[in-house]
Amino acid sequence: NIFKKRKNRQLGRRMTTNNNGEKYWKLAKIVNTMLLCSHIYLIIMFFMFQVRLMVFVNIVSILVYLINYFWIKRNLHVFFGNAYIEILLHMILAYLCVGWNSGFQIYTFALILTVYYCDYLGQKIKKPSLHPRTVSILAGVLYLAFYFISSRIKPFYDITKWHAGKIFFVINATFVLVYIIFFMENYRKIVTGTEKQLEEAARRDELTQMENRRSMQERFDRLPELAGTDAEVGIAILDIDDFKKVNDTYGHGAGDMILHEVAQRILAAETEEIHTCRWGGEEFLILAVGKMAYPSLVNALQKILGEVRTDRHDYHETDIMVTISAGAAKRKTGEKIEHTISRADDCLYQAKENGKDRMEVS
Ligand code: GH3
Ligand code: MG
Ligand code: MG
Repeated sequence: NIFKKRKNRQLGRRMTTNNNGEKYWKLAKIVNTMLLCSHIYLIIMFFMFQVRLMVFVNIVSILVYLINYFWIKRNLHVFFGNAYIEILLHMILAYLCVGWNSGFQIYTFALILTVYYCDYLGQKIKKPSLHPRTVSILAGVLYLAFYFISSRIKPFYDITKWHAGKIFFVINATFVLVYIIFFMENYRKIVTGTEKQLEEAARRDELTQMENRRSMQERFDRLPELAGTDAEVGIAILDIDDFKKVNDTYGHGAGDMILHEVAQRILAAETEEIHTCRWGGEEFLILAVGKMAYPSLVNALQKILGEVRTDRHDYHETDIMVTISAGAAKRKTGEKIEHTISRADDCLYQAKENGKDRMEVS
């Protein structure tokens, strides 16, 4: 059984890696398509303005991105490497051909963003990437170098007669802007999605899938706003009877299974007013908040105790039965919740003393 569980866990892990990988490949594909389209537009522009060298360069660029579709799933490292080198070389050559005023150096900013982003994705799917800081500093130095030499060297092609520099500048700046917005939005989506998953995992108990103690503590902190002024607040603590014996007799695996099944009975009692959690080991806590919350809590407890009493837990063809004891307390006006919990705990102790499989209320 333990072996099976381990295998399942491995399977689960593999599945999530694959799912994440899928997400990143999809993104890489979109990026590739964006880059491909931009070079199709550029080839038209350079052809119109008779910048022959750049027409040739863009044919090579388009080939690079067509080949890159092949690399996306095979080796993301090669994919990113091809894209970096293409963007960098294209930027330098375009700068030399049509000059600073055409704004091809603006791609530096898109490049820096992409390098960091790709490094982040690379880490996620365990593929090393180029060192983002080194690449970014080099790109920054290149940007400033472009600026300083632009007054000394003349572009290879004179495109001033068509105001082509201005057209290029506006289109390049717009493209980089759109590109940066697209990247930041995707980055934000991935980060917030991951955060949400982690938060959700931190609030749940893995075995029972119930809220954990920490999550319930947070609920207590929000109690003033949840309860308002006139709501009743009730606390119940439930504890499986002689659970140590179950573990000792049938093994820890049986204990885990029973814990899970008892938890499902308790979870089924949840309503708008009733919140349950695994408080620790084989103990559960129920918080009831609402106008008539306390009677509802007592009813729910009776129901749970009755169901658990008659449930048969089938473990390797052995029927195991357990019972639970519970203690409940209604919060007095102005009482601290910790104190109510402690009174419910006293009642649980009384229930155990009085023979277990019962509830005591205060
Ligand atoms: P009582 O009726 O007085 O509550 O007796 P008990 O045996 O239930 O109480 P005790 O506190 O002595 O033992 C609780 C046991 O619950 C001991 C511990 O091994 C077991 N337990 C706690 N958490 C888990 C768990 O996650 N899985 C399993 N299988 N057992 C657990
Ligand atoms: Mg117990
Ligand atoms: Mg206990």
